[in-house]
Parts: sequence; structure tokens; C-alpha cells
Amino acid sequence: MDTPSNTTSLEQLKDAYEEARGKHLKLNMSRGKPAPSQLDLSSALLGAMDSYMTADGTDARNYGILDGIPECRQLFADLLGLNPDRMIIGGNSSLSLMFDIVAALCLFGTGGNRPWQHYRYAGTPVKFLCPSPGYDRHFRICEELGIEMIPIPLNEEGPDMDLVTTLVRQDPLIKGIWCVPLHSNPGGVCYSSRVVEELASMETAARDFRIFWDNAYGIHHIYEEVALKNILDACEKHGHPERTYYFFSTSKITFPGAGVALIASGPGNIKELKGHMSAQIISYDKLNQLRHVRHFKTPENIRAHMAMLADELRPKFDLVLSKLEMGLKGTGFASWSRPKGGYFISLDTRPGCARRTVALAKEAGVVLTDAGATYPYGKDEKDSNIRIAPSYPTLEELDAAMDIFILCIKIAALETNNS
Ligand code: PLP
Repeated sequence: MDTPSNTTSLEQLKDAYEEARGKHLKLNMSRGKPAPSQLDLSSALLGAMDSYMTADGTDARNYGILDGIPECRQLFADLLGLNPDRMIIGGNSSLSLMFDIVAALCLFGTGGNRPWQHYRYAGTPVKFLCPSPGYDRHFRICEELGIEMIPIPLNEEGPDMDLVTTLVRQDPLIKGIWCVPLHSNPGGVCYSSRVVEELASMETAARDFRIFWDNAYGIHHIYEEVALKNILDACEKHGHPERTYYFFSTSKITFPGAGVALIASGPGNIKELKGHMSAQIISYDKLNQLRHVRHFKTPENIRAHMAMLADELRPKFDLVLSKLEMGLKGTGFASWSRPKGGYFISLDTRPGCARRTVALAKEAGVVLTDAGATYPYGKDEKDSNIRIAPSYPTLEELDAAMDIFILCIKIAALETNNS
């Protein structure tokens, strides 16, 4: 389908839309799932087990080693610049570690401070700062646990730090901030060293203020390798060794349904978490940990694998970005991110047009992430942000989906002109 030119009338756009709708397409750009071709690059992982004994002679099939086998902790410590003794390898999902930790803080508190649920039941719930647009599932954790969310503008270098530092200094009920510090979901924002330093050093009214550092895209470079300052080292340097919980997983390295996830933090937090976890589980899946170690062996091999995944993703990002350029550049109907890596492109329509655009696209068979999902409570005040996830569809599907999407952006923009 040809995308109508920028000077096309609303009527002509609607004709093209009806034609597209008549094709009953079923296209999906909603969730950041790897395509089967990306998963295939990790197929050898399934056969990577010649023996089930770990380096120190532990039988990985059996119970034991709550914090994960040493060689797996060492592999990820070397990859990410972390301390293997201040790390726990969990199950397959970092999100579930995040939920468990926030829930534990609600139930038990940390460092001898009050459990956060105390404030909830006293009618003054604790609050988290939520750099936005951000990851909808972080916001879901807060909603589920009764934590109030404060949206914070996310700028090119990271969250608006003037606002962050002012709020955390003033309000002892602000207990946390969500951060996706590299190739953020959805804007592709990479935190600068200045922002990392400020987060690590800032004064907070709450003694139990915590940074939830979700480095989900920490090695997921597509166009450009971006360095990230080590937040745990920075926190330690500034006298706040327990300020940050650092999360990572191989969901978008090997298999989202069967990777390994980890948490790294200060010594006090790790001790506390092991205490809670020992009531929850005897040990996580060590066979999978061992499988990942046997398969990758070194951080260099993981990085080489990421380069292959980037080669799979780049043509899809190229296609989406060139379609947006061709279809929308100079129209004033939308602006969009040009990420250096990660999984998403973030697009802003004219104010008041995102919901309508997403609804029109859905009617024509193109599913996008719900408008508003990238903001706390699903409330995008400007009704403008839409997340594009190009990884899963084939190039042909993406091509067709983007034509319809661009058509819908134009229709929604012109409708508001006319209203
Ligand atoms: N964090 C971010 C920022 C994500 O985008 C995603 C998945 O899209 C996750 C966490 C989920 O990670 P996991 O599969 O390790 O639970």
C-alpha cells in the first residue's frame, strides 16, 4: 500500500484507511517479544548440558545454593562489572524479582525501618518516582501494592534530576524510583554519568529510599554501544551502599520464558533478601544457570551473541524509522525517538491524538500497546505517547503495519484540526 502524501485530504486518507481495513489484516506491534529468528540463535543452549555437575562438584539437579551457582554469578559479574558475592541469581524473570523485593519492603521494611504497608494502612501510602514514559509493568507493581506514583519527565540524559532531587529531599514518603538506565523502554534513553552520580549522591528525606535499577537492556546495543556508569559503585562511593537494587536478565538475550535473572545490591540488602527468600524457595533452577554458563562460557561470547541479535533487529528498526521519516517528516503530526539500542521506538502524536490513533489502528488490524500504558495509572496527560515494538513481526508484516499506523496518525491529527 502507498502511504498517501502529506498533503492528502482527510477524505482521501479515510478512503485509503477503508481499503486497508477491508484487507482484515492481523498485525501486532504491541509487546517487545523477540522474533523466532532471534530465539533460534540460542537453540544450542538446549543441548549445552554434557554434565550436571557444577565446577565445585555440586549436583545441579538437586536442592541447594539459594543464591545461584558460583560460576553463573561470576559470568554475570564479569559481564556487568558487579560483585558476585553481592548477587542472587533468581528464576527466569527479573520482573518477578522486582515484585518480590517491593513486596518484601512493603511487608518487612528494610534496614530496621518501618514496613511500607504501615503507611498504606495509616492512609498515607508511600510513593515512587516514575520517570515517564516508562515500563508499564513497573507501574503495575506499584498499583498492585498500593504505592502512589509520581510521574517524572524523562529527558535525553535521564530523569529530570532537578525535580527528582527536590522531591526526594522534601518528602520522606518518597521511597523509590524506577530506572531503566540504558536504552529505556520505550524512549531508548541512556542515563548520563552525571545523572547516575546525582542519583547515587542525592540527599533523601527517607532513610529507606531505594533505586530500582532495571538494566534490562544493559547490553542490547543496536546502532551504537553506550557505556553506563556503575550505580552500585557510585552509591558505595557516596556512602549509600544499600541504596540500589540492580536487576538484569537474559530474557532478551536467550529465551524470555526460560532465561536467568539476577539481583545485585549492597551487602545488607543481599543478606536481608536471602533471609526472605529462604522462606520462599529452597533453590532456583541451577540446571538452567549451568546451561547458560556452559553455552556462553565468557562475557565476550555473550557480547558476540548480542551483536548477532542486533543484526536481526537493525533492519526492523531501520524500516520503522525510514517509514516514519518518509510518511511524517515535516508534517508536525508526530515526533519519535531514534534509539541506539533496546527494543522500542517511542512516538509522540499531536496532543490528544494517541488514543484515537491506537483505536483506528486496531480497527484496521494493527495492534499497538494501549495509549497511556507508558504512564503511571495509564494516564498520559497529553494523550500523545505510543510505544512501537518492532521486534516480533516479520519485515513484510512490519512494512504493512507501519503504513496503516502512519495513516492512522495522519487521520487522527487532521480530525483534531477539524474539530
Ligand atoms: N524490564 C524491562 C524494562 C522490560 O522491558 C522487560 C520486558 O519487556 C522486563 C523488565 C521483563 O524482564 P523479565 O523477562 O526478566 O521479567
